[in-house]
Amino acid sequence: MADYAKMLEAARDAVTIASGVCRQVQSALDSVRQITKDDKSPVTVADFASQAVVARVLTDRLGEIVLVGEEDSKFLREDGHDAHLEAVVAAAQEVFDDLNADDVLKLIDIGAGDTHHGGFWTLDPIDGTKGFLRGQQYAIALAYVERGEPVVGAMGCPNLPADFSADLDTPDPRGCVYEAIKGDGAFEIVGKTSPTRIRCNDVDEGAPISVCGSVEKAHSNADDTARILEYVEKEYGHPTGEPVKIDSQCKYAVTARGQAHAYLRMPTRPGYVERIWDHAAGALVATEAGCFVTDIMGHALDFSHGRGLEKNKGIVCAPPRVHGHVIGAIEALGIKPA
Ligand code: AMP
Ligand code: MG
Repeated sequence: MADYAKMLEAARDAVTIASGVCRQVQSALDSVRQITKDDKSPVTVADFASQAVVARVLTDRLGEIVLVGEEDSKFLREDGHDAHLEAVVAAAQEVFDDLNADDVLKLIDIGAGDTHHGGFWTLDPIDGTKGFLRGQQYAIALAYVERGEPVVGAMGCPNLPADFSADLDTPDPRGCVYEAIKGDGAFEIVGKTSPTRIRCNDVDEGAPISVCGSVEKAHSNADDTARILEYVEKEYGHPTGEPVKIDSQCKYAVTARGQAHAYLRMPTRPGYVERIWDHAAGALVATEAGCFVTDIMGHALDFSHGRGLEKNKGIVCAPPRVHGHVIGAIEALGIKPA
């Protein structure tokens, strides 16, 4: 029997340490840009360093693991990418000063595991790359998937303010960490405080519903979202405003902690398959906080089909009553997966 408590502790420490590494790269964005001479590289550097650090913490604590990470070391091993590699190693050395370039490459490649195992870890070392580059919201999302279901999850949200009244576009350097074990509830950690339980916030009869969604237009269909909200307002009597736009799985956290009533991700282009690392940790945290997390047809997310959620389209994450209204609206409006 897997020791979930020990796995969670390792996962929490891994995302907390990786959050620190990402923060550091973010504060040095300009110098990283200068070394590597292109604008995309800061995220590359932080992505690789984050994956290396998470792999290091997990293997130090848990021994051999299967890790399915978004990144691999191919780019860093190519000719002409020495400056990137140096920057990644420097970032990883901030927390593990014994690491050399070869160690870092090997650690990144621990993430090249495949999903054909009874249980495996999945990692998005930086989810919400655009948010990272803008200095806004992003997440380090790590989960253990067992027989097609996330059972342990931890998510570092390095810029997310704990205070609901704070502007979500303004980074809070304290950030938050979210964590869950299946069946044991969801928890928030702010700074060095102990974990506190979080619950989602279902809507009262006739009260306004607040929704969050992607910043990137290509990631979620804004027209479908608007039609759904209009229907919910007309048919179920809940006023709705413009969706709040947040990058990354911070949307799951914001819904799980009761700040928003729903996270909607409506498919945009046919054939796009959601990646498991974009949802495993966030969906577990939200579920454990009391949300229903399904695709837009109301089907449970199925993590048993490799690196993609092949059987699902889009995401509806919300407390039960709101979830029912959204799925009801999708059915009534005849919205089908793109
Ligand atoms: P978000 O910050 O929630 O908008 O999501 C960021 C994630 O969207 C990235 O990690 C990508 O894996 C994913 N993504 C990329 N293209 C699409 C697409 N066409 N539809 C939905 N998600 C996408
Ligand atoms: Mg991602």
